[in-house]
Amino acid sequence: MESNKPLFGIAATPTDKPAGAATDAAAEGADNLKCATGQDVAGVAVRPIEETAPVCQCLTQPIEHTATKDMGHEERLHIFVGFNNECPRYYPGSVIKYISYFGGWPGGQGQLISDTMWAAASAWNAQNIGVRFQWTTNPAEATFEVVYGGDKPGFAAMAFFPKPRGGNQVLVYSASFTPAGLARMQNSFQHELGHIMGLRHEFADTETAPAVLLGARNSLSIMGYAVARTIQSTDVQWTRVFYSLPNGTPIIDATHSFPIHDYTP
Ligand SMILES: [Zn+2]
Repeated sequence: MESNKPLFGIAATPTDKPAGAATDAAAEGADNLKCATGQDVAGVAVRPIEETAPVCQCLTQPIEHTATKDMGHEERLHIFVGFNNECPRYYPGSVIKYISYFGGWPGGQGQLISDTMWAAASAWNAQNIGVRFQWTTNPAEATFEVVYGGDKPGFAAMAFFPKPRGGNQVLVYSASFTPAGLARMQNSFQHELGHIMGLRHEFADTETAPAVLLGARNSLSIMGYAVARTIQSTDVQWTRVFYSLPNGTPIIDATHSFPIHDYTP
């Protein structure tokens, strides 16, 4: 942890762990999925080899976890937020810590997962959104853990929307370990971290759970499934706006009005 200090001087404040908080992880439109394989990952936490530099290239390819989704929607320039009739967010300025372990991954890829997640986190951190991600080796201070989710055909990963600590996981499925999945892993993780900041899919208006529109849309949004999906300037711009608004501010579009709800990571 000593090596973190030049980058991140703010320590997250641990909070109580509410029971049963891991029941609404549906970020990828998937069922509430338990991570059976990840239950044996207790052990040695792994830290990234590099402190800052991305180690995996983000290839400009479609993302596996939505292979069955219609990607032929019109040009869009918005971002979406909101879930469960609120706009969940980690309070501005907070540090969202996560932990991953060496064990429990196919092919002994624990170090790769650690490095790739940190590269994805660093990509967001570099944008000064208003919250930061930080790896930790201390489970007690982790807001979420990164674990293997086993087989989930058509999906690469699943995250969660902002909520109190307790059972929060990013599940990485077996599709992420195909050659294509490995090549796109950092990009996929950037997308999952977007969910953890409160961002909905770029096409959330087509999803079951209501979302509200904030700002401009962009079909190449990191929260979409487009070819060449990367963090867009519109993603940065409107996520910064989202994090600049006071807690409780209603975000209103043509059909919904959901207030911002700040959570402690
Ligand atoms: Zn997603």
